[in-house]
Amino acid sequence: MAESLRIWFLASEVAPFAKTGGLADVAGSLPGALKKLGMDVRVGLPYYRMVKEGGFSVRKVLEGLEVPLGDRVLRGNVLETTTEEGIPVYLFARDDLFDRPYLYSTPKGDYPDNLERFTYLSRAAILFAKQAGLDFDLIHCHDWQTGLIPAYLKTLYRADSFFSRAASVFTIHNLGYQGLFPQDKLPICGLPASEFHPEGLEYWGQISLLKAGIMYADAITTVSPRYSQEIQTPEFGLGMDGTLRKRSADLYGILNGADYHVWDPARDVHVPANYSPGKMAGKRRCKESLIQEMGLEPSLRKSPLLGMISRLDFQKGLDLLVQILDEVLALDVGLVVLGSGDERIQKAIQAAAERHPGHVGLEIDFNEPLAHRIMAGADMFLVPSRYEPCGLTQIYALKYGTVPIVRATGGLDDTIQAFDPKSGKGTGFKFVPYEPKALLDQIKKAVKTYHNGSAWGKVVKNGMKADFSWDESARKYVLLYKKVKKGNKMETRG
Ligand code: ADP
Repeated sequence: MAESLRIWFLASEVAPFAKTGGLADVAGSLPGALKKLGMDVRVGLPYYRMVKEGGFSVRKVLEGLEVPLGDRVLRGNVLETTTEEGIPVYLFARDDLFDRPYLYSTPKGDYPDNLERFTYLSRAAILFAKQAGLDFDLIHCHDWQTGLIPAYLKTLYRADSFFSRAASVFTIHNLGYQGLFPQDKLPICGLPASEFHPEGLEYWGQISLLKAGIMYADAITTVSPRYSQEIQTPEFGLGMDGTLRKRSADLYGILNGADYHVWDPARDVHVPANYSPGKMAGKRRCKESLIQEMGLEPSLRKSPLLGMISRLDFQKGLDLLVQILDEVLALDVGLVVLGSGDERIQKAIQAAAERHPGHVGLEIDFNEPLAHRIMAGADMFLVPSRYEPCGLTQIYALKYGTVPIVRATGGLDDTIQAFDPKSGKGTGFKFVPYEPKALLDQIKKAVKTYHNGSAWGKVVKNGMKADFSWDESARKYVLLYKKVKKGNKMETRG
C-alpha cells in the first residue's frame, strides 16, 4: 500500500450535497478515487440550504466554532456526514451566510456578501482543523472561494506549530471566476495590509481570492493539460496569464475524470431504460421517452436529436447556437436544452425556442435527473464553449453514445478526437473558430454522418469505449501531493 497522506479537501460545492457545475462533480468523486489509492481524505463545504434540504443524515461535531471576520467574531456549528465511500464530510453552518436559495448568485447577479461568506468558509476550515485535532499533511483547495486558505497558511498561521507540516495545492476549475472585491474590504479577510501587493493578493487595485490561491499555494493545478497551457497566454489568461507564468514551474494540468458510478447508461437510475455498447435498444427507448417528455413532434423519432445541458453563462457559447438555430432546425433535427443561470441568456434562448414549437424543448431549471435523461435520449451533444477548462458533459456524452459536437478548446480539445469517416477513428465533431458558421458546419457534418448508419455506429461505439475514469488522474494527484508535502516540498514563498 502506498504511503497514506492526510488530505483536507475544501470546495464550495460537492456532489451530491450541493452542485451548480463541474466543480461539484470533481469534489464529489476525486476524494473516493484518492481513498482507493490509500489516501486519508476529509472533505469540507458550507452547510447551504441545498444541503439542509437534501435529506442527508448529519450530526453536530462542534458547537460555536469562533471565526474572526473583520472586526467581528462569528460563532458557527460544524456538522458531519459521510459519503457512500465512507469519507467524512464536514459542513460549516451559519444560516445568515449559507441558508439561501442559491449557492453564489441569483439570476440577477452575485450575492453582495460573497467575500464575507467564503472568507468565513476558508478561515473556519483552518480553525476547525486545529480545534478538532484534524491533523493534515496537505490541504487541497478549489477555486476562488477557498483561495484564502493557502494565503492564511503562509501568513497568519505560518508560525503555528499545528500547521507546520501543512502544504497546500490549489486547483483552478475556471479562471473566469476570480473572486474580485474592493481593496477597502481587505480587513474582512484578516490579512495584513502588507499582503496587498501584486506579488500577493492584489489584482490591479482589487483583492482577488483566485490570485491569493495562485500566489500562496505550494502547487497549482488546473483541470486539463491543454487549459494549463492556454491560461498562460493573454488570449485565455483573462488578465491572470502573467501571474500564472510566474508560477509556471509549479503549475500542472491534470485531466478531470468521470464518475461512472453516476454517469453510465448501463446502471443510470434516472433513465427510462438502461443500455450498453452491445445492447442499444434502451437508447432508442430513452430517445422516444425524451421526445414525449419535452413535448416534441413524435416524428422526430427518426431524426437526429441534439442535446445541451449547461450553465447559462457567457462562457458556454449559447450565443452561437441562438444565431444559427433556424438553419439548424432546417436540417430536420430536434433540439433539447436544459440550462440555468444568467437571465439575459435565458431570454435570448427562450425567444429563439418559441419560434420552433415541437422542435425545440427548453427547460430553464437545474435538474439532475433530467440531465441524465437528456444525456441518454439525445443522439448528439453540443458544447460550443468560448473556453472550457475541462468540461465534463462531453465526457459523459461519450459514455452515453451521444456524439459530442464541441469547440476545440481546453479540455474539449483534449478529450474529443474528430471523427474521420475514412479510417473510422474519432469520437466526435470539432470546430476551431468561435463563429456560428463553424458550429453549423460541424452540425451539418454530424447530421450527414448520422444518416450513414455504419459510420454513425462507429463514432458512437468509439465514444462509448473511451475510458475517462478517475484512476489515472487520481494517481497524478497523489504523485503531486507527495512532491509538495513538507519534508520534500519546494519552498515557494517568503
Ligand atoms: P461547468 O463546471 O463549467 O458548469 P462542466 O461540463 O465541467 O461545466 O460540468 C457541468 C456539470 O453540471 C455536469 O454534471 C452537468 O450535467 C451539470 N449541469 C449543468 N447545468 C445543469 C442543469 N441546468 N441541470 C442539471 N445539471 C446541470
